Amino acid sequence: MNTPEQRENLMLRSVSRIVKGMPATDGAGVELTRVIGQPVLPMLDPFLLLDAFRSDKPEDYIAGFPPHPHRGFETVTYLLAGRMRHKDNAGHEGVIEPGGIQWMTAGKGIVHSEMPEQENGMLEGFQLWINLPASHKMDTAAYQEYPAEQIPLETRQAGIEVRVISGVTSKGTKGPVVQPLTEPVYLDVLVPAGQNYFEALPEAHNAFLYVIHGSVSLENEDGETMSLGRDDLGVLTQGDAVSLQAGEEDARFLVVAGKPLREPVARGGPFVMNTRTEVQQAFEDFKQGEF
Ligand code: FE
Repeated sequence: MNTPEQRENLMLRSVSRIVKGMPATDGAGVELTRVIGQPVLPMLDPFLLLDAFRSDKPEDYIAGFPPHPHRGFETVTYLLAGRMRHKDNAGHEGVIEPGGIQWMTAGKGIVHSEMPEQENGMLEGFQLWINLPASHKMDTAAYQEYPAEQIPLETRQAGIEVRVISGVTSKGTKGPVVQPLTEPVYLDVLVPAGQNYFEALPEAHNAFLYVIHGSVSLENEDGETMSLGRDDLGVLTQGDAVSLQAGEEDARFLVVAGKPLREPVARGGPFVMNTRTEVQQAFEDFKQGEF
């Protein structure tokens, strides 16, 4: 249980909405679930898109994502199972393996491919798009890439495990990915059945939970219990901390938070800018081979 000290003077976040992903096809025919970036949740500033993929059927993923451009934001790929080869037009290439993260700041633009490095077996993971502010949309592209063994694993009482990709936990574990523009928190948390989990989150950040397996429950302000099941995204209310309990099975979930940019968003497929004109310019620059 959380100690009284932890709860004192804290405003606990509750779940304002439960969102289920919708089936989508992207790339050259990859079957995935779009959770953020769909009609019921177009964005959660600064998060523009969240795709979840989980399949052991090669026909769902084998076509991959052949060369395509991005401009104006970051793509964050986190793999739980399987392998993905990444290659861009600036000569950057690598394979993302289970438990590994690739945090790509597309900035002014890259053209890259993301292809499964396997012909069968399970491919499971997430791609999250995080917006960049107007002042940094045209920065040079950059990568922060870490394999599983370089991602700190915080172990707590009762078998709780927290993989800290970005941000700092209340116990002081710091993730390797740093992005001062949106100060993201990205945690992969395992809580054994029936156990409680508590984590402080920056008060002004937008935040969500995404349940990978099992279920979790949180109390809302009226003392009502909200339960999130497998593949549910829970949008969190504002507050200083999240406190939840795992259900009858061990629960694994993502905790993701980021500082909202509060800027106009103009989207055009793989380009996310502030105005329509800038999106048209991105298409023009791409056509001219300027990426
Ligand atoms: Fe991409």
